[in-house]
Amino acid sequence: MKALQSKKELRETLHGLRAQFERKGNPNSAAVGLVPTMGFLHEGHLELIRRCKEECAITVVSIFVNPTQFNDPSDYENYPVDLKRDLDLLEKEGVDIAFLPNAVEMYPENQISVQMSLPELTSNLCGAHRRGHFDGVLLVVAKFFNIVDPDRAYFGLKDYQQFLVIRTMARSLDLSVQVIGCETVREEDGLAMSSRNARLSEKAREHAALIPRALNLVQKTLNDRKGRYSVACDELCEIASDVIESGTLNQVEYMEIVDPDSLKKLDEIQTDRTARIATAVFCDGVRLIDNRPLHF
Ligand code: AMP
Repeated sequence: MKALQSKKELRETLHGLRAQFERKGNPNSAAVGLVPTMGFLHEGHLELIRRCKEECAITVVSIFVNPTQFNDPSDYENYPVDLKRDLDLLEKEGVDIAFLPNAVEMYPENQISVQMSLPELTSNLCGAHRRGHFDGVLLVVAKFFNIVDPDRAYFGLKDYQQFLVIRTMARSLDLSVQVIGCETVREEDGLAMSSRNARLSEKAREHAALIPRALNLVQKTLNDRKGRYSVACDELCEIASDVIESGTLNQVEYMEIVDPDSLKKLDEIQTDRTARIATAVFCDGVRLIDNRPLHF
């Protein structure tokens, strides 16, 4: 595995690998796959990497804690980092290139930057609570897409709004990259894996497990109401929020049921309609997010 810090080295290395692939590549696999991460890797990240390796000849994983997507400076400063452990994991997974730029490499001093935004998809959920967050995500991912020029890029559905925002950006800018969403990987008790889980105390970790339980209870409630024409989303969100806040360390930031494509808030779920429930919870001060599909 090559660990590279500069855009120039990355482009040159990829140029060579791509040429090799074109000479003797398997016509059924894509050339270059990209998995962007902020590091402190866990099984959720590794599943994206395994899927990328299955489908692409060359796997690039970026590790970059992007300052422009943090609206809370203390969240940025406390973001967990363990580069040595991450590189060992990537090596074991057989990754071809780890791209590890620093902030100046990505945002050179004195360089004026474009702004990107996608208001249609970011006015609610995390977009409403983390001002500027998705503008920062859009910009850094667009830059990665331009630097790496991947055929495919892999994102987790745990960050469902992020996945839709990036896929929409790629389509809107006519980028040729295929943006692929991968299922959320969970701990045994259902908690979505996240680098932030490392910041939970033992007690907070127990309370955090209420989050997936609450979302699953909403689906169960829908199953129990089969035969009705519709169910009010406010009622379902209240059920879920109450379960989560029965953990005294938990505070729900938002709980919303939305259309899975437009992310517009739904007032009711009707028979045969799909929806997505999404939440953000401060668990003893650590912000965790989760979501799941709902069927009625
Ligand atoms: P992050 O390092 O948190 O920015 O995440 C990098 C990528 O991994 C994003 O596409 C996330 O959606 C994805 N990811 C994070 N946690 C999980 C998880 N538990 N399951 C699947 N994908 C995940």
